[in-house]
Amino acid sequence: MNTSRTHIHLEMAACPLCGPEPGTTIRENFDPFRVVTCNNCGLVFLSPRLTEKAILKLYSDEKYYVSEVAGQGYDEYLEVRPNWIRTFTRRLDQIGKYQKPGKALDIGCGPGFFLEAAQAKGYEAHGLDPSDYIVKVAREKFGDRIRHGVIEKVDYAADEFDLVVAMDTFEHIYHPLKWLEAVRRIVKPGGLIAMTTPNPASFLSKISGRNWVSYKLPEHVFYWSPFTIRRVLEKDWEVLEINRAGQYATLGFLFRRLFRINSAPGGLLKSLLTFLNKFSLYSDNGSLTVIARKK
Ligand SMILES: [Zn+2]
Repeated sequence: MNTSRTHIHLEMAACPLCGPEPGTTIRENFDPFRVVTCNNCGLVFLSPRLTEKAILKLYSDEKYYVSEVAGQGYDEYLEVRPNWIRTFTRRLDQIGKYQKPGKALDIGCGPGFFLEAAQAKGYEAHGLDPSDYIVKVAREKFGDRIRHGVIEKVDYAADEFDLVVAMDTFEHIYHPLKWLEAVRRIVKPGGLIAMTTPNPASFLSKISGRNWVSYKLPEHVFYWSPFTIRRVLEKDWEVLEINRAGQYATLGFLFRRLFRINSAPGGLLKSLLTFLNKFSLYSDNGSLTVIARKK
């Protein structure tokens, strides 16, 4: 992104678990952004970062969604859909060890891939997303089960859900304690939260260094490890499991990531990608999945 025009929207951040006192150590420098580590608890976060107001403006832009979430346009959106549904079905199998299907909410639901997978398992699935554009897309399939907004402001009833999931969402949240409190309010006693989020202590993160795919700036503002995610959850939630996360992806997608191909290619490369997209595999993606029960 064009950082020269956004530098006036930068702010410093402090560790939400320890405050500013312990100070931080620079982990990676992506001028003008820095990924830092809290000297007390080891939480990895972005500071300086864009202000929340500036990032919400970015997310509300249709162009952001089409390129970042849906891929390089509608063809790729259809291309990635089956693999996301397989990925979410696998995560629902993990969750299924702890509860029977009930009423579920996906925070940051995007076009509704998790909802599709959850409905097929027998859940009554609902979705919430801050993007006007993607809410319109998801409503075509799920109607008024899709709400527009953020969890801290939307008026779900207390104890309404058996399950709240946030897949690749928690790393975007600027005020994680307030966000978790808002989630806790709407989950039934004994209900579950399940999250997948990039793990800075993962093998993939360690071997990739500053080229780790999950250093997605300016959007990813917190990087939770098994240790720090347990710490932020343990007051109100009983942590049931923390595992390495993976995802199904086409070989074409993995190839694009490996060679950092972001634009729509032409010629031979396009033919190669079309061929590779016929094949999918499940691989560790350097994230963690945590499942916890409301105390
Ligand atoms: Zn800390």
